Amino acid sequence: MRDTLVLNASFEPLSTVTLNRAVVLVLQDKAVVEQAHPGLRVRAAAVELPVPRVIRLCRFVRVPFRRHAPWSRRGVLIRDQHRCAYCGGRASTVDHVVPRSRGGGDSWLNTVASCAEDNHRKADRTPDQAGMPLLFQPFVPSPADAMLLSLRAGERTELPHWLAGMRPAAA
Ligand SMILES: [Zn+2]
Repeated sequence: MRDTLVLNASFEPLSTVTLNRAVVLVLQDKAVVEQAHPGLRVRAAAVELPVPRVIRLCRFVRVPFRRHAPWSRRGVLIRDQHRCAYCGGRASTVDHVVPRSRGGGDSWLNTVASCAEDNHRKADRTPDQAGMPLLFQPFVPSPADAMLLSLRAGERTELPHWLAGMRPAAA
C-alpha cells in the first residue's frame, strides 16, 4: 500500500497516511492534492481521482509537540544528500566527526556523510587532527524533516523539489 504524505496548510510535512485515508480527506474537501502519481487513477464512490502522493490540509492544524527525527545512518546520508563532508564527492558511509573511540556518539551533530576513502583516511582523528576541515556543518533535522526521512527512498525522491531539501531544526 502506498503512503501519502500529508502537508499542513502551511506546506509543512505533517504525517503520512494510507492511500484510502488520503482519498477520504480529499473527497471530504479537507485536503487538496498537491502532487499525484502520474498516470495512476483511483476510483472512489462515484468519482475518479489522481492517486495522491502529497496532499495538503485545507485548514492549518496546530501541532503541540513534534518529535525530532531519530538518528540513523540512512538519515545522515539523506540529510547530507549523499555528499561527502570532506571532499564533496559521492558519500556512501557515515563518519563520526569526533571518533567513537574518543567519546563521540551517534548523533546528528557528530556525524556527517563521507566517501569511503575520506572515512578511511580520517580514521580515529578529529577533523583538526586529520587536517580535513568540514565543508558544511552537520545539523539536527527538523521534526518536519523526520516525516521525509520516514518515507521510502523511492517515494522521497519523487517528491516536489520544494519539499526535498532539509533545513536545520529551529533551536
Ligand atoms: Zn570524500
